[in-house]
Amino acid sequence: MVTTHNLGFPRVGKNRELKFALESYWRGSTSQQELQQTGQSLRQSHWHAQNQCDYIPVGDFSFYDHVLDTSFLLGNVPDRANNNAGDLDRYFQVARGQSRAESQCQHIAAGEMTKWFDTNYHYIVPEFNADTEFNLNADVLIAQIREAKQQNINIKPVILGPVSYLWLGKSKDNSDKLALLDELVASYEQLFITLAQEGVEWVQIDEPILVTELEPQWQHALKQAYFSLQKTPVKLLLTSYFGELRENLHLACELPVAGLHLDTINAFDEITKVIDWLTPHKILSLGVINGRNIWKTDLNATLTWLEPIHARLHDRLWLAPSCSLLHVPVDLDSEITLDEEVQSWLAFAVQKLDELKTLSTALNEGRHAVAEELVSNGLAIESRQGSSRVHNPSVKTRVNDINARFANRKSNYKQRAVIQKKRFNLPLFPTTTIGSFPQTREIRQARKQFRLGQLDQHSYQHFIKEEIKLTIEQQEAIGLDVLVHGEAERNDMVEYFGQQLDGYAFSQFGWVQSYGSRCVKPPIIYGDVSRPSPMTIEWATYAQSLSEKPVKGMLTGPVTILNWSFVRDDQPRSDTCLQIALAIRDEVQDLEQAGISIIQIDEAALREGLPLRQSQWKEYLDWAVNSYKISANGVSDETQIHTHMCYSEFNDIIQAIADMDADVITIETSRSAMELLDVFNEFNYPNEIGPGVYDIHSPNIPTVEQIVLLIKKAQQRIPAERLWVNPDCGLKTRGWKEVKPALTAMVTASRILRNSLAK
Ligand code: GLN
Ligand code: ZN
Repeated sequence: MVTTHNLGFPRVGKNRELKFALESYWRGSTSQQELQQTGQSLRQSHWHAQNQCDYIPVGDFSFYDHVLDTSFLLGNVPDRANNNAGDLDRYFQVARGQSRAESQCQHIAAGEMTKWFDTNYHYIVPEFNADTEFNLNADVLIAQIREAKQQNINIKPVILGPVSYLWLGKSKDNSDKLALLDELVASYEQLFITLAQEGVEWVQIDEPILVTELEPQWQHALKQAYFSLQKTPVKLLLTSYFGELRENLHLACELPVAGLHLDTINAFDEITKVIDWLTPHKILSLGVINGRNIWKTDLNATLTWLEPIHARLHDRLWLAPSCSLLHVPVDLDSEITLDEEVQSWLAFAVQKLDELKTLSTALNEGRHAVAEELVSNGLAIESRQGSSRVHNPSVKTRVNDINARFANRKSNYKQRAVIQKKRFNLPLFPTTTIGSFPQTREIRQARKQFRLGQLDQHSYQHFIKEEIKLTIEQQEAIGLDVLVHGEAERNDMVEYFGQQLDGYAFSQFGWVQSYGSRCVKPPIIYGDVSRPSPMTIEWATYAQSLSEKPVKGMLTGPVTILNWSFVRDDQPRSDTCLQIALAIRDEVQDLEQAGISIIQIDEAALREGLPLRQSQWKEYLDWAVNSYKISANGVSDETQIHTHMCYSEFNDIIQAIADMDADVITIETSRSAMELLDVFNEFNYPNEIGPGVYDIHSPNIPTVEQIVLLIKKAQQRIPAERLWVNPDCGLKTRGWKEVKPALTAMVTASRILRNSLAK
């Protein structure tokens, strides 16, 4: 018999119940007991939703983040959170800097947050130093195990493995993290003994670092850890996901554990090798359902390659999703307004587990036992493959017709700079912003009313135009040199464009956790992407009509649109990206035609798309940068192209940034005191740069002196002629009360330096 299991279930709840419960608790509106009750009822309903599986995960639920849970489980809590608040409040202190909005609550520095491998989920980085001691406290986990057992659930606790836990953390004193391994492993040993006492048979132990390029000492650490854990009284299922094992394959197969999980969506070609290398008593869990995307699995095709494997492995074969379902929405049945045809091609978490059940039944009892399911799945797959909504021959032709000239400007930057200097005649240290201005309650309300049909098109347009007017007036009053229209019409920098592109669908409840209580609802690219009509021209030209100064046209770049959407699995990402690039290119050219002289194309998520293995970076950067260039570079020399990137690490991708050849790049730098500019300096980055001088993530208003100091620091690295002055990022999350004085200080600072250079 084939065994099915799940690696993790989304925590937020069908209707984001967890988000609302957390935020209400943090606000101080509800008690801890109420929050705990919501947690409990979510866990129970999630276990219930997974009851078609033979083993159901426990320990995957979290009030904020599973890595932070692991830190608390192991008693590795930063000293600054050692106060007399209760455990859960200390947990929230580390997660977000404070537990509740009460006056007596403690404020501490929040733990650093970073991306979980190549996903859009963020975890709280564990902190280590030479004196770190572990102190197992499994109460929370044990309570959940007991809770599940009361529901008669066949459980499999899920734990982040010791080596990945160390690897994901940060040494605060530069001591060697691996020096802590022995002690850490001892805590895991203790944990497994406790779990065995609770009647646990299998433990899923996640070591996702197995799909990354590991230095020898980390490979060795895996051996050391699992060889000392082999005598534990529970069976360990060593779990990898998100990629191929490659050079770690033999290591993964040889570690003394009871089973191995392989992500066959990403490592299909390794299945045979793994089977060959796996010692005969071990079970092999194959992740056959994509845990990162929302498409139905082709069950018939999957069975065709699974059946011979089943014939070889028999009971040793387990089936699961490729990774935790944390990365997909909960239940497709919640969707009411989604396009029916598109909906028939999709599977969210609950549907994915149904697919798993169908596969295991087909293997255990023969395909005839699930004949009906297989037929209906086959029809859905066929309908998607053949749909004219997916395939648009004219888009394919346009992509095929792309030639080398599309990606490059007519002249090089030096020549363009001369032409543009003459056209714009901007002062030294020109000031600008990144695009959005405060999104007030009124703005959000108007957008909502328009969406719900409570506000007609005409009134809505009028409203947005009034907002644009106000924003332009404010910028004129502040004295900025290059203005923006303010983005009041945009709820989100990707969704806004997706809604106007063909080939895109939008779910109503397709929420995915990004961090803590924050969720995103990625749009779904189901077909060839094209732009039926202009998307921003009306707002941009209206804004420009109100000012003598240049107003930037504001677009999101193709790579960011791609990386923040659920994408097609029936063609390479790079192909989809080219289609989006052409749509944005059309918009850029229309903006230029309409008299917009400066156009900014944001690529906030370009870096995020980097593959897990550095050896694959070049391939990604090649097509990503090319797509960006195709979108941006179809303009004349005198049109100035800006790009913006939020994140602040360019050291390892500076060549790619230079290859983008934007006339101006604005980046986030204020927190690093301009050190991030070093790489631009060392690289001799040739084009113009606007390093952020105002940290928009903080409510603090920078002073003129602080900004002057930052610009001077920037000037030590980049010649003044190529420096712009701007905030770190868009201002939409800030209030006008902060933005006005902050931008005024920015303009004053720039003028002071301008004047001092003129002298
Ligand atoms: N233009 C966008 C804004 O200002 C850029 C946002 C971003 O980079 N995340 O809001
Ligand atoms: Zn940004």
